[in-house]
Amino acid sequence: MPNKSFDVNWTDVTSKHLALMKAFLAQFWRDEMKISTIGIWSARDHVRSACLLFMAIVTLVSFSRTASAQAVIAQLSDIHLCSSKAPHAAINLTSAVQMINRMTVDSVVVSGDIGEGPTCWLQAKSILANLKVPVHYVPGNHDVHTLDVSVYRSIFGSDYYRFQVKNVDVIVIDSQLLGNYDNYSATSPPPLPTYTQALSAQMLNWMNSLVTTEQNAIAAGRVVIAVQHIPVARDYGFPPDTKPYWIISDPYRTREMNALHALGVKNVLAGHWHSANIFDWGNITWHVAPSTSCLPWGGTLGFAVHTITAAGNVLTEFVDLPNAVP
Ligand SMILES: [Zn+2]
Repeated sequence: MPNKSFDVNWTDVTSKHLALMKAFLAQFWRDEMKISTIGIWSARDHVRSACLLFMAIVTLVSFSRTASAQAVIAQLSDIHLCSSKAPHAAINLTSAVQMINRMTVDSVVVSGDIGEGPTCWLQAKSILANLKVPVHYVPGNHDVHTLDVSVYRSIFGSDYYRFQVKNVDVIVIDSQLLGNYDNYSATSPPPLPTYTQALSAQMLNWMNSLVTTEQNAIAAGRVVIAVQHIPVARDYGFPPDTKPYWIISDPYRTREMNALHALGVKNVLAGHWHSANIFDWGNITWHVAPSTSCLPWGGTLGFAVHTITAAGNVLTEFVDLPNAVP
């Protein structure tokens, strides 16, 4: 899978780093002028000049990357332990854990569809316990249905919460409280039962209660992002299936978008599609991670690695699982 959006953010290069680069360039220029004046161009002079120029470039690139690598979050999604459609789910998840342990990451987030019930969740947790960094869970529509969130909460704790990774505040959202996903075949958005409507209102109230805190955090230089299982809208025609199962529908979509905008969220990590997608919708960039388990829309099994810069840019790299099969 290609690296879709990894670049150097020039605004993150500090003045100190620029000063160091300028010092290398100044020395390079002085040496060149001296050599020109003397008129003697030995091989040694050329090597020294080339070294200074090379060091200036290396300084700029390495420091800009260090400065921009504010926080790195690996995202596993749709790991689907025990699903009949994903017989290699456990072995693929184990491979992904081993790959992530060889990377420099600060934290791992699992963006839903963990497994088919408590026994499978515990199996997922035991594989993910091998990660060297903290892991944070987000429920998917295979984990939480309209009436059973208490079962999920008994194993994982809260289905919506906030955690911090370095300079980044991450808002975890339960997208199953923003629509009824119990019937895959529904052709119009089914309503939420009264019980789940109340839970939905509680979660949205909780999001809105964080607005002042997060606006102050942003003013103080922190970054706020969100994670949820189901993306809020299609990526301009993807998935090609037009059923409401694939996205958040109104009235919950508008309620959630209003809360996200008030919170200052500019980037959301999501899953559910089993496909690597990055797209802008509603003044937010949606980073949809691929699945480690199965491929309903083709593509490649893998996971995502997000580098979140001090300036609040989320640079997403999709990593393939080599030799993995669904
Ligand atoms: Zn899903």
